[in-house]
Amino acid sequence: MTARVGLGYDSHRFAAGRPLRLGGVTIPHTHGLAAHSDGDAVLHAIVDALLGAASLGDIGTFFPDDDTQWKNADSSRFIKGALDAIAQAGFALQQVDVTILAEKPKLVPFVQQMRAATARTLGIAMEHVSMKAKTNEGMGWIGHGEGVATIAIATLVPAGGG
Ligand code: MG
Repeated sequence: MTARVGLGYDSHRFAAGRPLRLGGVTIPHTHGLAAHSDGDAVLHAIVDALLGAASLGDIGTFFPDDDTQWKNADSSRFIKGALDAIAQAGFALQQVDVTILAEKPKLVPFVQQMRAATARTLGIAMEHVSMKAKTNEGMGWIGHGEGVATIAIATLVPAGGG
C-alpha cells in the first residue's frame, strides 16, 4: 500500500442564534452555521477528506443527519469516528491541508487557534496541519456572506509506517 489522498468539501449557511464553530473553536460572530450538528464546516470537510482517502464514503454515510444522537453534536466526534474507520482500513493520518472561505467574520486572527485545536482532535502534530482562511472577493454566495465553505485534503499512509 502506498500513500492515499482524499478531498473533502463542506458548506453551511449562516443562522442567527447559534455559536459559530470552526476548526473546533468558537469564533465571536453575529451568526453561527445552520446544521443538525454544531455546523463545524472545517471539521466536516476534514472528515470527508479522511473518508475519501480510504474510499469509505462520506460523512453522511457514517453520521446521518436524521439521527438524533448527532443533534448539536460536537463535530470532533465525527473526526474520531472517521479516524477509527481509516484505522480499521489500515491507514494512519499523516497530514491535512485546509482552506476556509468566508467573507465575514475575518478568520485570519483565529487560524492558529483553529489549527492547534484541529491538530489536537486529529492526534497529529500542528506542523502537519495546514490551515488558510480567505474571502471570496465579494463574489457569489460566499462573497455575499450567506455562509462558509471549506475545502480539505488529507494524506493517509499505511498504518505502522511504510
Ligand atoms: Mg457539514
